[in-house]
Amino acid sequence: MSENRREYLKNKKRIVIKIGSSSLQHKETGGLNFTRLDVLVREIVNLRNQGKDVVLVSSGAIAVGKKALRFEHDPNASEEKTLAEKQALAAVGQARLMMVYQKLFMEYNQMAAQILMTKHTVANPLNRHNAENTFRELLEMGVVPIVNENDTVTTDEIKIGDNDTLSAIVASMIDADMLILLSDIEGLYTDDPRVNPEAKFISEVTSLDDEILQMGKGSTGSTVGTGGMNTKLIAAQIASKSGCDMVIASSEDIKVIHRIMKGKEYGTLFHANKEADFDLPKFIEEVHQEK
Ligand code: GLU
Repeated sequence: MSENRREYLKNKKRIVIKIGSSSLQHKETGGLNFTRLDVLVREIVNLRNQGKDVVLVSSGAIAVGKKALRFEHDPNASEEKTLAEKQALAAVGQARLMMVYQKLFMEYNQMAAQILMTKHTVANPLNRHNAENTFRELLEMGVVPIVNENDTVTTDEIKIGDNDTLSAIVASMIDADMLILLSDIEGLYTDDPRVNPEAKFISEVTSLDDEILQMGKGSTGSTVGTGGMNTKLIAAQIASKSGCDMVIASSEDIKVIHRIMKGKEYGTLFHANKEADFDLPKFIEEVHQEK
């Protein structure tokens, strides 16, 4: 573990933070975990107060929609909703979720905005250019953009599909130098620790070789998000190739954000290895073909 590489995180200027649905909800009821949301917003505003740009990628549209429409909550149920149902749930839930974020950010006198994206936002040069301009303008204005996939209109052909990948795409588009994925796991293990007690924790990944990429198989065990370790490793590749360090850490205690940004050793740190000729739309298309 290189002490200096963690220390160096203190100097980061533009940070993307991703939080998943399972981290925002109480597992038993599906209701929002306001303690976590409040701490999350406070941590973000505190980073803003240190002069850093922050973008939040938040899942939860479908989960919040389900709760709002009083769908029965079964934490162990697998997803079996139809596409139209999910789109309708997202339409209700995204608006609700933003209402909660707006209220919390307002308490700290911080302006927040909503950006909803699809795969077209990255693949179509004009859409992408416009989105990049919007992000740039918002960050210059000191606003915290809150991003999600536009789940109300996306179908398989045009969806990114998970917010791990989406958050790395955003990091790449806005030249962020840091991406933090808050998840229901502490970081990368050599194998799924819930299945294999011998699995070893990896605190630092200097390069994403085949051995590391193989560790992405298996799932988080969560029924409310879409991201497993596989999507986190896709995110790591996008972030790294775009010149952005990435940390996967547990969302159990959201205060981990400032600890990471102070250079403390939490979660798994993936080093940036910028590739000058990295073609983001091409990479996304290749990932999509493999699914
Ligand atoms: N966009 C989805 C939602 O807000 C979540 C996707 C994900 O969890 O990766 O419900």
